[in-house]
Amino acid sequence: MKVLVAVKRVIDYNVKIRVKLDQTGVVNEHVKFSINPFDEIAVEQALRLREAGVAEEVIVVSAGSLKSQETLRYALALGADRAILLEQEEDSESLQPLAVAKLLQQVAEQEQPGLILLGKQAIDDDSNQVGQMLAALLDWPQGCFASDLQLQDSSLQLTREIDGGLETLALDLPAVVTADLRLNRPRFAKLPDIMKAKKKPLQVIEIAQTGIDVTPHLKRLRVQAPPPRPPGVMLSSVDELLAKLGEEGVLQ
Ligand code: AMP
Repeated sequence: MKVLVAVKRVIDYNVKIRVKLDQTGVVNEHVKFSINPFDEIAVEQALRLREAGVAEEVIVVSAGSLKSQETLRYALALGADRAILLEQEEDSESLQPLAVAKLLQQVAEQEQPGLILLGKQAIDDDSNQVGQMLAALLDWPQGCFASDLQLQDSSLQLTREIDGGLETLALDLPAVVTADLRLNRPRFAKLPDIMKAKKKPLQVIEIAQTGIDVTPHLKRLRVQAPPPRPPGVMLSSVDELLAKLGEEGVLQ
């Protein structure tokens, strides 16, 4: 069975995000980019399935500019077998979840994977949409926010963390699964593997050649930074704290 994993290049989670002065977006220049953390977890899960002998091949796929090759090479260094880049140089930031889902659908129809793993959300747009849209487009079962996943032959058991407990689902394959934070702890890429990854196959497909309409349907009106936090104050006693909370209407 092939496992397809969708990986997105995003601003690294350690970077302090700055909003552009004209509020059209966030500053992308001179900041570190990395693989979306939930996608790294999805890659790890695919590798574990291959190591357990239930998957034969792990294919990583990304939609974006040529810079996303870095992200794919990182996933190859972690252990993926080959990579596909759906490339759009101009305006690659305008690729919205529905467009990404349609592109992934086409790859899935060509590659016929038994399982598609995605992150539960991209930490840049926080959309939490691509996995669900992809499952709908393919008409495959979906399991979102997986915190555990067991796969035997053609049946998949998936655990989800829900309010106040856990939910376990059984899905028929092929299926679409999105990874939550606690699914696993991803491995680190070792230097020799980073070198070896340079030689692994990475196919670039121009989005313009796919025939898929990726026109954005949403217009971003404004991006605003959260208001700055007021500075903390030092109080000398619990009574003073209670009085302060009362003044601020917290104790009503
Ligand atoms: P989102 O719905 O945008 O929050 O993204 C959910 C998941 O879809 C991500 O964690 C990725 O696995 C996948 N995804 C989103 N955008 C892309 C992209 N441009 N290329 C590849 N995968 C993506």
